[in-house]
Amino acid sequence: MSTFHYPRVLLKLSGEALAGEQRFGIDPEIVRSISRELAEIAALGVQMAIVIGGGNIFRGISSSATGMDRSSADYMGMLATVMNALAVQDALEKENIPTRVMSAITMREVAEPYIRRRAIRHLEKGRVIICAAGTGIPYFTTDTAAVIRALELKANAILKATRVNGVYDRDPEKDANATMYQSLSYIEVLQKKLRVMDSAAISLCMDNNLPIEVFNLFCKGNIKRVVLGETVGTRVQG
Ligand code: UDP
Repeated sequence: MSTFHYPRVLLKLSGEALAGEQRFGIDPEIVRSISRELAEIAALGVQMAIVIGGGNIFRGISSSATGMDRSSADYMGMLATVMNALAVQDALEKENIPTRVMSAITMREVAEPYIRRRAIRHLEKGRVIICAAGTGIPYFTTDTAAVIRALELKANAILKATRVNGVYDRDPEKDANATMYQSLSYIEVLQKKLRVMDSAAISLCMDNNLPIEVFNLFCKGNIKRVVLGETVGTRVQG
């Protein structure tokens, strides 16, 4: 029997998490420190898949607002996630953690194609898989990709690592009086329009009863506490 509350997790890392203070691009020091923490969890035996965003490099919806075709902009966004995935892979390998980047858009010179059964096999062998290129389809987000991957890989929960401590009633970075929720139902998230994940992603979690743990990525030890079953931020469930 596993001692972990969540023996297999899907960690959603936004692109911005890799950007550090400048909010753009990849900050190698940040990537190193995140990877050290992830390596610690992987070494404990927790099976981990990571879905990585691309907002630190390119976001389709913002670029389509300036007149660019939305699908082309979204494909650029998906390619941005591949760059982030390679950066995280490099940092995890430096921590001696075996990893595989699996891309939803075939680019076999840089990454394996995403094949569900193969992904599960990697997890069973203790490799961290980094799922790149979102769903491979425009008009989606990497949050939705994270939920789909979590469901197909039978992860026990989605770990949504953010810059703040959990889900708040208002933006805590703009309003010091914002209050954090300890737990929420999916329907509350949708009705209150809380910024946890986009509504497509939340609906998928609701329909499949997949718990979401939202917590601060930058508090050391948080990921481990979540995996062991402690509520450190906000838990969203049915
Ligand atoms: N994207 C997409 N389909 C997907 C996932 C992502 O078209 O399945 C594009 C979309 O343009 C998005 C960009 O990739 O804006 C980067 O992903 P996201 O904004 O979800 O990254 P994050 O906010 O997590 O950094």
